[in-house]
Amino acid sequence: MSRIFVCGEPIFTAQNNKLLTDDLETEWFMYTGSNIETTREFCQHLTEKKYIHRSEIPTILTGKIDDHQCEIYDKTGLPYGMIEGTTPENFQVNCGGWNCRHQLVPVADAVVPADVRRRFEFAKNTRNKLQEYNDKDDKLNIPSTKGKVFTTEFRKQWG
Ligand SMILES: [Zn+2]
Repeated sequence: MSRIFVCGEPIFTAQNNKLLTDDLETEWFMYTGSNIETTREFCQHLTEKKYIHRSEIPTILTGKIDDHQCEIYDKTGLPYGMIEGTTPENFQVNCGGWNCRHQLVPVADAVVPADVRRRFEFAKNTRNKLQEYNDKDDKLNIPSTKGKVFTTEFRKQWG
């Protein structure tokens, strides 16, 4: 039975309060399902976006889907229709809320169009480079910073 992926159905894995695919370390998900029924703003934009990187889920739950900001329901702090207490950990179970009928399906990297993936690889590489730069900076700058401080103090004292 594949009921575990169907939003809004009675879910017998709901007590498993983490992403069902954590063990597989899936990077990518696809938001699928029909928009025929009354579709909420959140679901509509997410089905249009279609491919979701794992790291995007916290942002998406604030209602921000790429350049679009969904309306937020005051009571839940989540986009309209979503189940109170939906977090990145249980988003795969809750999806867009009760009777949402959409599914967050883990997909292999190869399923995701190359240009969508590239955006994330670029972001990842930039982060790594920045980190490398910071590491290097730490090592190299300690003596030179000290030198600068010394020079300044020296000038103040003698200049
Ligand atoms: Zn939905």
